[in-house]
Amino acid sequence: SSLPPPRTRIFKIIVIGDSGVGKTCLTYRFCAGKFPDRTEATIGVDFRERLVEIDGEKIKIQLWDTAGQERFRKSMVQHYYRNVHAVVFVYDITNASSFRSLPSWIEECKQHALGSEVPRILVGNKCDLQDSVQVGTDEAQQFADSHSLPLFETSAKKPNGPEEGSQRNSDHVEAIF
Ligand code: GDP
Ligand code: MG
Repeated sequence: SSLPPPRTRIFKIIVIGDSGVGKTCLTYRFCAGKFPDRTEATIGVDFRERLVEIDGEKIKIQLWDTAGQERFRKSMVQHYYRNVHAVVFVYDITNASSFRSLPSWIEECKQHALGSEVPRILVGNKCDLQDSVQVGTDEAQQFADSHSLPLFETSAKKPNGPEEGSQRNSDHVEAIF
């Protein structure tokens, strides 16, 4: 009889940040290839998957998206932080308050043993809204450097932004994962 096919490895990546920063839209674009027509507030924890091939091996990327609402998070948090391979912190460049929340998200991750030994990145979303910027690239870069996080400014809606090539790092959401 033939050998069973090799098991597909799963990489669990959690996407963290305030409600409204675009976590659901980013994960949707990565997994479905487009900006969602509409999103509803995430209830509890949600995940989406995409199969990718790396060096000939099929790998399942599992993106975990979470609700910001405290009442859901309390019961789900242990489950959510288990067996995580990488962390994506997201803020909204048009919302300074979402940027100010980052230290507490980083701290919560550390409390669940997700510190600098786990790959972590910082994503500034909604770069298509250049007229409403509240968090500039310099400020974000400084914060990212102080926490040893690679920074990516992007948009789930218009991955190339208004002026193509004008942003630092990658401006395409595909490249962030
Ligand atoms: P979440 O609460 O972090 O999951 O945020 P959602 O993904 O539900 O997005 C919140 C709102 O921001 C929705 O109205 C989205 O349409 C909008 N949004 C998300 N990403 C972008 C983006 O890159 N650009 C713009 N202009 N709007 C976005
Ligand atoms: Mg959501």
